[in-house]
Amino acid sequence: MFKPKRVIFEKGTLDTDIGKNIYNKVKNNPNIEIINTSSNKIKSNIPGNNLYEQYRSGKETLVVGFRKGLKFQTCKPSANYQLPLVSGCMGRCEYCYLNTQLGDKPFVKVFVNTDDILKKAKQYIDERLPAITIFEGAATSDPVPLEPYTNSLKQTIEFFGKEEKGRFRFVTKYNDVDSLLDLNHNNHTEIRFSINTPRIISTHEHHTASADKRIEAAIKLSQAGYKIGFIIAPVFLYENWQDEYRELIKSIKEKLPKDFNEQIIFEVISHRYTTKAKNRILEIFPETTLPMEDEDRKFKYGQFGYGKYVYTKEQLAQMKDFFLLEIKNVFPNSIIKYVI
Ligand code: SF4
Repeated sequence: MFKPKRVIFEKGTLDTDIGKNIYNKVKNNPNIEIINTSSNKIKSNIPGNNLYEQYRSGKETLVVGFRKGLKFQTCKPSANYQLPLVSGCMGRCEYCYLNTQLGDKPFVKVFVNTDDILKKAKQYIDERLPAITIFEGAATSDPVPLEPYTNSLKQTIEFFGKEEKGRFRFVTKYNDVDSLLDLNHNNHTEIRFSINTPRIISTHEHHTASADKRIEAAIKLSQAGYKIGFIIAPVFLYENWQDEYRELIKSIKEKLPKDFNEQIIFEVISHRYTTKAKNRILEIFPETTLPMEDEDRKFKYGQFGYGKYVYTKEQLAQMKDFFLLEIKNVFPNSIIKYVI
């Protein structure tokens, strides 16, 4: 669960249920600064003299606001649209793609007008009938550690439970899922857990839940009837990587109840980076040990005019063989969507 150091309430949010709930949760905590603002100058309330400090202050800030523009972004190829319930994330993963997306003070923002957002989702669903429309809830955020403050996922899952042609999915590195267990999800929500070896999590994924906690949360959700999946990402090919990723796959199996026979979906994604991301990472994590030596990688041109550094063709082929074999060995019933 997110424990912010400051909470900024935008004008009018304290009149909403979510705004009131958040206020009641934080009002007696002497370690949390409460700021009411009537302007939209959020960033002037977040301290920091340089990128390093601004990053950390931003990550400690919760902004409570309204989602104003209600047009949803598309979300190809995994879904049709992004569903904006939250933006930003309390996590501090060194390699996070959001590091270059959220500006110099990457605050977390929750939207209090969930009803408007879901009304808009309904409109998108209706426009595409009779096709099914899929919405991704974690395209620019990790909504799970905010759930105890908002109950937005709960409301959204119940909304999609009633939508014959609407589907919802999100991915997380957290475990605040207990309030989602008794819902009427009607198999319309898929929840994936991003996971990695304990070494990678403790070295590079700061302020996130441990691998064990994520696996336990996934099992609880599966027992509550949700479709679950694991995204093993980003995969790093370090010394002993095979042993440690094999151990990770086995540890998922070992934690599952003996009679567990549900299909698990796996996606596996290798580490890659752009020069822009690398420069940002080196400023906000000057001590990072993330492997980002350009000469060890292959440069691949991207479709948006900038390229990225990926593992070599031989390394990727070896990685693919490894994961296909190991996952099928341990989970013969699983679906492996891709290893890239
Ligand atoms: Fe980024 Fe996900 Fe880590 Fe949050 S948990 S910082 S969204 S990689």
